[in-house]
Amino acid sequence: MSQTNMRKTAISAIARNVVTGGKIDYCSKPIKEVFGEHVFNEEQRRQRLPKNVYKVLQKTIQAGEELDPSIADAVAVAMKDWAIEHGATHYTHWFQPMTGLTAEKHDSFLSPTPEGGAIAEFSGKELVRGEPDASSFPSGGLRATFEARGYTAWDPSSPAFILDNPNGATLVIPTMFVSWTGDALDKKTPLLRSIEALNKQALRVLKLFNNPAKRVCTTVGAEQEYFLIDKNFFFARPDLLTCGRTLLGAKPPKGQELEDQYFGSIPDRVLAIMAEMEYELMRLGVPIKTRHNEVAPGQYEIAPIFEEANLASDHQMLVMEVLRKSANKYGMTCLMHEKPFAGINGSGKHNNWSMCTDTGENLLNPGDTPHANAQFLVFCSAVCRAVFMHGALLRLSVSSASNDHRLGANEAPPAIISIYLGEQLSDIFHQLETGKPKSSRNGGDIEIGLTMLPKIPRDAGDRNRTSPFAFTGNKFEFRAVGSSQSIAGPNTVLNTIVAESLDYIADRLEAMMKTGDDINAALQKLMPEMVREFKPILFDGDNYTVEWQEEAKRRGLPNLSNSVDGIVQATTKDSLSLFTKYKVYSKRELHSRQDILLENYSKAINIEALTLAMMCRTMVLPAAVRWQKDFAGALTAMKSAGIESPAQVKTLDKLSKTIAEFIESVEALDDIVAHQPHDGVLEHAKYQRDVVLPAMGATRVLADKLELMVDDGYWPLPTYREMLFIR
Ligand code: ADP
Ligand code: MG
Repeated sequence: MSQTNMRKTAISAIARNVVTGGKIDYCSKPIKEVFGEHVFNEEQRRQRLPKNVYKVLQKTIQAGEELDPSIADAVAVAMKDWAIEHGATHYTHWFQPMTGLTAEKHDSFLSPTPEGGAIAEFSGKELVRGEPDASSFPSGGLRATFEARGYTAWDPSSPAFILDNPNGATLVIPTMFVSWTGDALDKKTPLLRSIEALNKQALRVLKLFNNPAKRVCTTVGAEQEYFLIDKNFFFARPDLLTCGRTLLGAKPPKGQELEDQYFGSIPDRVLAIMAEMEYELMRLGVPIKTRHNEVAPGQYEIAPIFEEANLASDHQMLVMEVLRKSANKYGMTCLMHEKPFAGINGSGKHNNWSMCTDTGENLLNPGDTPHANAQFLVFCSAVCRAVFMHGALLRLSVSSASNDHRLGANEAPPAIISIYLGEQLSDIFHQLETGKPKSSRNGGDIEIGLTMLPKIPRDAGDRNRTSPFAFTGNKFEFRAVGSSQSIAGPNTVLNTIVAESLDYIADRLEAMMKTGDDINAALQKLMPEMVREFKPILFDGDNYTVEWQEEAKRRGLPNLSNSVDGIVQATTKDSLSLFTKYKVYSKRELHSRQDILLENYSKAINIEALTLAMMCRTMVLPAAVRWQKDFAGALTAMKSAGIESPAQVKTLDKLSKTIAEFIESVEALDDIVAHQPHDGVLEHAKYQRDVVLPAMGATRVLADKLELMVDDGYWPLPTYREMLFIR
């Protein structure tokens, strides 16, 4: 065997690997000092800003208002001085274009002086507005090329921070990215708008309860699942390198069936990565809380403590970035793809979501008093009604070519959106529906009207891992979110649909209370009616069963099994009227987003198809043919020695037939990829879904069959067994 085998080289390189590290020392600097040391946080602002400037800025941040331009210069100077003390040479406006990633363009603080020297400068104008020449980001037709520029605008509610690089540091300023015509070109702007919409409607409802809250924000804690594999394997697999997932690979003899990995002890190298990543995130003020092994081999999870949604969303982008960088430092690659390995659990992002007042009251926390419980039930109902009315938009918010491989397979929630409330809460809602709640199943025999609801314990009921949207005691957990996606989109949808339900509730209650009802009387009328309406969305059973699919159909719940069907929800009548009513997305923005999502879907699959065909032709086929030649040679030798071996003839025959089928299949795939339709983004996406994906699947089956027939010494691609278990 003369040519080098990438796979064999990778394995020997990994075997020689030793974990090095030891850079982090929490003894000399305790964890509480590390936390937030790279953030221009409240403490820094208080220390460094003139008192009046500090006050105005804090007010801006807390109220989510626009910045008073007169203080911008003072803030910029303080920020710059702080950044330079931390070794920063550059600043960047950091934004989240429609690629779903973050983008940045660095500018130096340095300005040359006429005397030939230089000074460090950073003005309020530069802080507040930036003009990246960012005309190449997808805009879905929002920007004609002649006005291709968008600008970035500072988001004071997310603090600036410092990102280290091996040779310096950069001051990073979180910003929105909008076009000159005011269209949102990013994911942050709609999120901020949706937070505002929810705040407004939630306050209306709270007012009816005489709640003194002045502001309601959404809180989000996103658990991130990911895979780590050795970089040597990663580089030896063109599919992982180009597409983030394996496009072929036979099922390993041992997968995850033993479940011996979940919460198991964490390998040293992985632990070193986790610790380094947590250290970096801690410095950036991201409150990382838990780490553990996940169910699949090589799969892990990291979870922060929840924060206000906008900050949580920015921090989540940082989590993904730091994860990738930290893994790299220890010779591993972090796979953030929703389904890197077929037949093995995929990765998601559990989006924990609730609403919280400025007085610190979690509105989804069952209270201790009947009054608090009534308020809880109203907010909980608002969420249920929202998901019932707009489940299709939640499905839209998690649509991508990659998430389709995960939803509905191996432990991931299905594409049908339903809500799991847990036994006790379901029971209460069931009783509410009949108008006269009498008892709580676990709470004993108490007489209850809406004025005297049972005490609902936290964490009531079992967790139902199969549910895409579950109540978990004091928050909802949206589990269909994909591991590689930004959480901004799903939370924008969640905030807006719940805002709409709160708006509806406020309208109804206000009307009844105007004509003399008190809050309890009004609720007695409204609640049963609402529960009857949204009841079909509630499902506590096993979401994986065929029975549920049938039942969901009977209930009229949408089953958008693929992302093309999900994406087109962006421009339905419901979507257009909802998002424009609450000024979260304009009509133009929705159409542009739909186009971008469809294009991304098609591009992702097209790249995969090209990669798969290339790997089949240049890696799989040569290995198979080489083995075929060896085998045939052996048969010829045997024959000339006068030995008959029908079994071997049969094996060679089987191999040859599989190779022939494989060649045909790759040719068919090539042909399909070469003949794409050109009649619009939607048709193009449907073609990928209906024609390209099945062709890829058929080719893969044959490639995987060959992997189990061909001499292991010839096989060039790291196998599932190796990638998942050698670390
Ligand atoms: P698990 O779901 O694994 O039992 P936890 O219940 O502790 O774990 O929390 C999971 C995630 O939910 C964490 O990120 C946590 O911060 C977040 N979370 C907890 N309470 C809230 C809340 N009120 N709003 C949003 N997220 C929350
Ligand atoms: Mg959880």
